[in-house]
Amino acid sequence: MSFKNEKIVEEKKCRDCSAIFHVTDKDLEFYDKISPTYNGTKFSVPAPTMCPKCRQQYRLIHQNMSNLYWRTCDLSGDRILSCFHPESSREVYKQENWWWDEFDATKYGRDYDPSRWFFEQFNELLQTVPVPSMFTNFTEDVNSDFTNYAGFDKNCYFIFHADMNEDCCFATGLKKCKRCFDSLNVFECENTYECINVKKSYDLKYSQDCQNCSESWFLRDCFGCKNCFGCIGLQNAQYHIFNEEKTKEEYEKFMEKFSWDFSQIENMKNKFETFTADKPRKFAQVLQNENAMGDHIFDCRDVVSCFDIQESRDMKYCERIYNGPNEDCMDVDQYGLRLKRAYLWSALWDDAEQIISCASCYGIVNTYYSMFTFYSQDCFWCVGIKNSDYCILNKKYTKEEYEKLVPKIIEKMKEDSEWWEFFPASLSPFGYNETIANEYYTLNKSEVLEKWFTWSDYQPPFPKVDKIIPADKLPENISDIPDDILNWAIECKDTKKPFRITKQELDFYRRYKLPVPRIHPDKRHLDRMAMRNPRELFERTCDKCKKDIQSTYSPKRSETVYCEECYNKEVY
Ligand SMILES: [Zn+2]
Ligand SMILES: [Zn+2]
Repeated sequence: MSFKNEKIVEEKKCRDCSAIFHVTDKDLEFYDKISPTYNGTKFSVPAPTMCPKCRQQYRLIHQNMSNLYWRTCDLSGDRILSCFHPESSREVYKQENWWWDEFDATKYGRDYDPSRWFFEQFNELLQTVPVPSMFTNFTEDVNSDFTNYAGFDKNCYFIFHADMNEDCCFATGLKKCKRCFDSLNVFECENTYECINVKKSYDLKYSQDCQNCSESWFLRDCFGCKNCFGCIGLQNAQYHIFNEEKTKEEYEKFMEKFSWDFSQIENMKNKFETFTADKPRKFAQVLQNENAMGDHIFDCRDVVSCFDIQESRDMKYCERIYNGPNEDCMDVDQYGLRLKRAYLWSALWDDAEQIISCASCYGIVNTYYSMFTFYSQDCFWCVGIKNSDYCILNKKYTKEEYEKLVPKIIEKMKEDSEWWEFFPASLSPFGYNETIANEYYTLNKSEVLEKWFTWSDYQPPFPKVDKIIPADKLPENISDIPDDILNWAIECKDTKKPFRITKQELDFYRRYKLPVPRIHPDKRHLDRMAMRNPRELFERTCDKCKKDIQSTYSPKRSETVYCEECYNKEVY
């Protein structure tokens, strides 16, 4: 892999998967920039020992976004929802209790023992400090209990990685949306259904990679289109069916004939797929960038090997960074918003600077190897600290004591080869199968255990229902679905897992004349994930001008892939 403006200075073999990866001059500059200095001595951060993919896999093991369970709060005894299941070894407090002033994690502080491994001491601390049940802006949310890594949401249900939404359900990666259902990475939209990577659009169904589109069905890679059906690569078009221009009357007649039965929609999905199969694809979804390498990159400068990122600069190997500005980060997964110099970070958001190896934190500065730590600075190996500073293993020190002790610990970590490795997988509070790691790097149970990751066997009890109806026995048309469906469960066509329909969902399907889904929500999410290209770059050539390009379309795929120039010439 070439990195445009970067010079490869070292070729390394990943200690986990044996893949070859490269360290560049810019990487070394970055490692040097984030190396901390104490009392005039700089503690250099060396180049990583694992390849970018393995590093990401280890980080994602720390994010359970969408598996929520009923359990008891270990402080109040209240029945609560949590991303930690009831048999988890962690002590879990409901967010209100965790965040109140009486809970102070420094009381779990302990002395550092120089004779023992640091990861071992950290693990002992981790097992004792209570964790918050979920990660939401619970004080600002309205009627949105079933959400996680989310905030400022109103009347939302099962949405994740989602901020400032209203009346949205079953969606991941959602910002400032209203009535968006079953969607993935949808921003500033209204009334979308089964949309993937869509921005500033409304009344859009079954569409992908679109912007400023409305009142349309089955669109792909369209911009500014209205009243279109089954189109790809159109700009500012109206009344088009399968890329053919029609009169308003013809279009309306076609739409009237469409009954929105389940099988008709399924047929249309197949027809659209066949129709688009031989149409040229843009090598990547990138817009308004300067020097961007990756996919789904918007308003960025100098970002390399990044996916799903906006308003950021000087970033490498970062993903799902939906809120900017951010600068100078490497190996960061999820979120963003004023991040500066962060490295090896899993779920980090809001105002963080000079961070290495942290998981599920925000508002932190000069902080290393910490989890569930918020609005704090100068913390080293801490868990559950909030509004504090100069803590090591949760014990509070003076600035002078802290700056004397941290260098000693770093020297010991260097000896034990713990220095600047991300947390071992065993420190994750979640089973691999509960985390996003399993969405990105899917493994079965035996593969998980072989890699010394953990697996969760916990199965929540299914709520009592009047009957379970197999998906293929559901009426074809929403108009034939009785209210009584709210008392049933549907057996998923693919996974056989039963699921229920909520009143909010039923109202939405009725309003837009959509058939009731026959697939479990979890599987629907995975199906949407599978409709996207892998988050991996391949060296290939443009199928038109034969120029070398880097694309998420591997050269082995059947699609015709064009570079930006050729695509724009062909399509617009
Ligand atoms: Zn690897
Ligand atoms: Zn070309």
